[in-house]
Amino acid sequence: MGAVQLPERFGRLGLEERRRLLEEQAIAEDWAAVSCGPELTALADIMVEAAVGSLPMPLGLAAGFLVDGRELAVPMAVEEPSVIAAASLAARLIRRGGGFTTWASEPVMRAQVFLEKVPPGGELRVAPREAELRERLDVLQASLRARGGGFCGLEVARLPETGLVRVDLLIDVRDAMGANILNTAAEHLSPRLEELTGGKVLMGILSNAARERRVGARFALPLELLRVAGSGAGGSGTGGAAAGQGAGEASIEAARRIVLASELAREDSSRAVTHNKGIMNGISSLALATMNDTRAIEAAAHAWAARDGQYRGLSKYTCDGQTLEGSLELPLAFAVVGGAVGFHPASRLALAILGHPDGQGLARIAAALGLAQNFAALLALVTGGVQRGHMKLHAARLAYQAGARGAEVRQIAERLAAGAQYTRDAAARVLAELRGRRA
Ligand code: NAD
Repeated sequence: MGAVQLPERFGRLGLEERRRLLEEQAIAEDWAAVSCGPELTALADIMVEAAVGSLPMPLGLAAGFLVDGRELAVPMAVEEPSVIAAASLAARLIRRGGGFTTWASEPVMRAQVFLEKVPPGGELRVAPREAELRERLDVLQASLRARGGGFCGLEVARLPETGLVRVDLLIDVRDAMGANILNTAAEHLSPRLEELTGGKVLMGILSNAARERRVGARFALPLELLRVAGSGAGGSGTGGAAAGQGAGEASIEAARRIVLASELAREDSSRAVTHNKGIMNGISSLALATMNDTRAIEAAAHAWAARDGQYRGLSKYTCDGQTLEGSLELPLAFAVVGGAVGFHPASRLALAILGHPDGQGLARIAAALGLAQNFAALLALVTGGVQRGHMKLHAARLAYQAGARGAEVRQIAERLAAGAQYTRDAAARVLAELRGRRA
């Protein structure tokens, strides 16, 4: 069957017509998978253009988090197996050591106005007019000011290569991601900036870098709590230290290897990409569950990772022989209002699960989640690899694809994992045996 053929004005058709047109083409029996009922479909239609349905991404809860003394289960929307289990595992371990402590700067973002054809020295006429520009923005952003946000400064520069003049407007966007707030501010001041500089505006838009809007999380884990499964750490084969017995050799060795792995991610860019992808497994899943702008959040994180000219790992680990300390710092433009956040019922549900944090609170949880995810990945990697856990879930998927349902899925997955047989044929054979024995 060929690809779907759409009329030129597909996007202008009504929702029902669009859906009917697709249904008529009978592209697949899976059509029902994006049909989440009339209410959500109608919502999709007012959120994006040419909507035909909603994607039912799996949503799970990573339980066991203790963040700044608060117990939390963190909603995560993600299609990848093992991510939620890994976050929970790390969270439970870290909780026993006192949990995460987090911090957030004020949610200041930049709106940027770029001007061309500015005569020499024209850029110098902007800074002295800061008070006037502030007044103009204060009128525009009265409600944001009432919430404690609004304009908080400007920076002007002439760019050396293009010769463009850049005017950065620093604005505290409070609990919003801020894109529209910032873009509106840039547009609002553009005519006045043209007058002041004598130039012509090329564009006015926010910067997603969010360098001023930083968030951090850290934890300290006494080594006796660092249980090491398997025998990978140091090749000791001892299986790890139990809580309360003091730090065993395997725990000390695992901590040393985690610290080395974090140094490796700072040194080697190729490794850093995978290291940071793991961090974003957590952060992006929470961003998606709350319907934050995942692209903006990821772009900012990766730009921050490359801030000194080399792409580096975002987290850091140290160990003094008694305690393993992990920390993570990055820009995070998480919102609890604006766009789809707090508007779509799925976003509202995720925020309710977290006890309705404010924007900075949500970002702090995201930082803790990213660090938990990173710690789980490093622990698995340096003590025996991540594949063991991944393959168990892969086996469950194979069992499902072979026709297993309910309790059968787990039974077959366990048999496949025990024999390291990860093929659909093997899953079908084990299913037939299981059902044959039952018959
Ligand atoms: P928004 O346009 O919905 O504005 C937020 C609104 O919430 C404002 O009107 C504000 O007054 C109000 N508000 C209520 N309570 C608030 C509080 N406590 N703190 C702050 N504001 C409060 O949302 P936005 O955050 O300006 O823009 C986000 C949307 O813009 C997202 O959907 C994003 O994907 C999209 N967008 C992104 C880009 C980009 O990242 N480059 C560009 C354009 C649009």
